[in-house]
Amino acid sequence: MQAYRFCPQCGAPLQLLPLSGRERYACIEHGCGFVHWNNPLPVLAAVVEYEDKLLLARNAAWPEKMFALVTGFLERDETPEEGVARELKEETNLDAQGVSLIGVYEFMRKNELIIAYHVQATGTVALSEELAEYKLVAPEDMRIWSAGTGFAVADFLARRGYPVRFFDRQTGADIPDPRLRGGDASLQYRL
Ligand SMILES: [Zn+2]
Repeated sequence: MQAYRFCPQCGAPLQLLPLSGRERYACIEHGCGFVHWNNPLPVLAAVVEYEDKLLLARNAAWPEKMFALVTGFLERDETPEEGVARELKEETNLDAQGVSLIGVYEFMRKNELIIAYHVQATGTVALSEELAEYKLVAPEDMRIWSAGTGFAVADFLARRGYPVRFFDRQTGADIPDPRLRGGDASLQYRL
């Protein structure tokens, strides 16, 4: 998707040009130099541990039964650790007591980069208007969606010795870890 058709600096139409080995929309107006690099946006995701369970939330815009991690964009002038604690507070009213990095995950489908944290949370849940409902799942009962933030959940569970069970969101059936398909599994599965 092209975010800009015209240069946000000088208003000239942007043109698709080869730059650094990739095609990017750039301004060819003399002296302008604007390039729309379209870099991925950092998204924060929280594997929230609350009362010995993991908290999953359903966005109000999502279908029933579709639950996921608490996520949000990193804001200007905050660290990712501050950002994930802020998102948790805004979306669930919970307070982050401990924040530790699980890993960084590609989400090229949405041109995002997921920075996932394990967040130990306390307080009383009160959902924001964005969220329709939440559920608490024991780590041993967790079933994992095979995309984006799901891989953060998988790594979190694997490191603590819990079963790692993926499921297909379309059919509901159990599936093997999608990252182990072909290639060198040890490279793709960081434990
Ligand atoms: Zn320009």
